[in-house]
Amino acid sequence: MTRNFNFSAGPAMLPTAVIERAREEMLDWNGSGMSVMEMSHRGKEFVSIAEKAEADLREILTIPQNYKVLFLQGGASSQFAMIPLNLLKDKKKADYINTGMWSKKAIAEAKRFCEVSLAGDTSENNFTTVPDQRSLVLDPDAAYVHYTPNETIGGVEFDYVPETGDIPLVADMSSDILSRPIDVSKFGLIYAGAQKNIGPSGLTIVIIREDLIGNPADGIPTMFNYATHADAGSMYNTPPTYNWYVAGLVFEWIKDQGGLSAMAEINRRKAEKLYTAIDNSGFYANPVAENARSWMNIPFTLADPGMDAEFLSGATQRGLLTLKGHRSVGGMRASIYNAMPEEGVDTLISYMQEFEQKNG
Ligand code: PMP
Repeated sequence: MTRNFNFSAGPAMLPTAVIERAREEMLDWNGSGMSVMEMSHRGKEFVSIAEKAEADLREILTIPQNYKVLFLQGGASSQFAMIPLNLLKDKKKADYINTGMWSKKAIAEAKRFCEVSLAGDTSENNFTTVPDQRSLVLDPDAAYVHYTPNETIGGVEFDYVPETGDIPLVADMSSDILSRPIDVSKFGLIYAGAQKNIGPSGLTIVIIREDLIGNPADGIPTMFNYATHADAGSMYNTPPTYNWYVAGLVFEWIKDQGGLSAMAEINRRKAEKLYTAIDNSGFYANPVAENARSWMNIPFTLADPGMDAEFLSGATQRGLLTLKGHRSVGGMRASIYNAMPEEGVDTLISYMQEFEQKNG
């Protein structure tokens, strides 16, 4: 069996130990004689799996008691609409910080429901920086402030959590959740599609402060109302049970690694190595300002884009997969989430150096 190093931005690598455990338990979970896929979501077996996953996530992220954790479907993209539908209440405006493709999508959807003002916007420098706290223009009438702590495509990550006073801070943590410790109490709402650092695609996690639940827009569809899911323990309808289970295995794996401070140490080391290799080469380049460089998604270009195809095919031959950059930016992108072993980054760096020596 070969496990290649897969640099996909998502769905992304899962820890091998997690997939092995899922395989072991595939046909018969814990003596139940059933696969998790076959269980009623209301049966005692699945309820125990679901409760354990939530408890472990709460432990890893130190989620305060006054926050609900929701296990939903619809991807992070559904949250782009659910957030204004649930959080605007009697307000008509929301603040958004625009740092790249994913913030832009969130903004476009929010504009269907409210007036959006840009509290920060780095489009002028082609999304290669993050706005600093002092430059943020916060509207006191905004219902919330939305930002994208890690832009998966641009590889731009905030190195601080914006201070927004009494206005709830909303974060799309799809591509950086669980990569380092965070202070959940600074946020009103955190959301993330699962397919990067949590588990298989099809599960979306929302962590929401309780006081933000229960005053949605008139006529909101039942399934779009956070209260529906909060009141029913995310079991108003059939949740994505198998994904929830695998996410639970990933949470256990993170605990086994030593939790988020241990993950952060490894993630920092992996990212620093790769940025150093890029910066020290005369051949590869990353355009992002040093303080805004992502630990999770590292785009880079070759001195000669005409060599991209050759670079990629040589990489694939060495088991270094899915390095092609996003179609909107070209070049390469290495996504190195929690499950990417340090050895994968080392192998990539060796290959990059070898390729430069031959072609640079
Ligand atoms: N936000 C960010 C930061 C993302 O990286 C992605 C997916 N790549 C999304 C939102 C959209 O997520 P989904 O596909 O789960 O809707």
